[in-house]
Amino acid sequence: MKIAFFSTKPYDREFFTSHENNSYTLTFFEEKLTAKTAHLSKGFDGVCVFVNDNANEEVIKILAENNVKLITLRSAGFNHVDLDAAKKAGITVVRVPAYSPYAVAEHAVALILSLNRKTHHAYNKVKANNFALNNLLGFDLNNKTVGVIGTGKIGKIFANIMKGFGCRILAYDAYPDNNAGFTYVELDELLKNSDIISVHCPLLDDTYHIINDETISKMRDGVMLINVSRGALVDAKAAIEGLKSHKIGALGIDVYEDEANLFFEDLSGHIIQDDVFARLRSFSNVLITAHQAFFTREALQSIADTTKNNIHAFIKGNPENIVEAS
Ligand code: NAD
Repeated sequence: MKIAFFSTKPYDREFFTSHENNSYTLTFFEEKLTAKTAHLSKGFDGVCVFVNDNANEEVIKILAENNVKLITLRSAGFNHVDLDAAKKAGITVVRVPAYSPYAVAEHAVALILSLNRKTHHAYNKVKANNFALNNLLGFDLNNKTVGVIGTGKIGKIFANIMKGFGCRILAYDAYPDNNAGFTYVELDELLKNSDIISVHCPLLDDTYHIINDETISKMRDGVMLINVSRGALVDAKAAIEGLKSHKIGALGIDVYEDEANLFFEDLSGHIIQDDVFARLRSFSNVLITAHQAFFTREALQSIADTTKNNIHAFIKGNPENIVEAS
């Protein structure tokens, strides 16, 4: 089986090359999968894609014309694939349902610790011989209330780490897990009573902009908001207004709703055209990382291992980890 591997980075080659064997080959393309690049799938039986590849209806049509039978995602999230179009085209979509939920949860905690104790600012100040503590004041995490929206694999690990800091957890989930040991509340109650809010649900129609003008207005003044899940869970323009009014006291994001043209690329020397992103980046109480929460050695190994198994299972006619339109 021949697989076209899109959005290749050097670290992908490192983790995936050793997985090639007689049953399939990988051809690495640096291009993102888009309507413009989908023609590269000609002559391949499958495509392997990451989070900012776009397998929309138009792309799927081209993949189907090229006889592609498999889309194997190197991610858990699948909001970048038109599952209805894939089903109609007879293309199987498989994913990596879990790789290292610890990696993502720990990154959310890293954002909280940095934003709170301002270690990123302190680093730069000390480098510039500025040893004054002005503007570095933080707060104790102990006894603070942390609201966790989405208590799946990542949300649960995140909540348990925060419990270790002595935080009280308020959880909200469309499908609460009553064995998780958290206090589940309605979303409004979580918004009203949390000092820190972290979003860990998937991007779905009913979670698009779950953080918006209205939900932000219900939060505590000076709330710290964290999103390491998917950019479009947070309305970026509403977040900017929340920051300007001081409603949001700190914002930590690893994902951004229009990140596809920015993240994973070295754009040094380019002019950033996205004014919303530029405004977000301008706040000193905003910490942005470029979709790196998953980026640990353990996670990359696990993504490569599961993808290899997914391809083998598909070749054997018993596909695993299928994602289907609901
Ligand atoms: P999961 O499926 O284990 O958990 C998701 C949870 O969200 C579930 O408990 C589900 O019931 C809940 N949920 C669904 N709809 C909801 C709604 N409307 N309101 C509230 N909760 C709802 O997924 P996970 O492995 O914990 O991953 C969560 C998300 O993290 C993924 O969907 C992905 O978008 C994101 N992610 C980001 C990175 C990164 O590098 N930044 C890496 C991996 C995953």
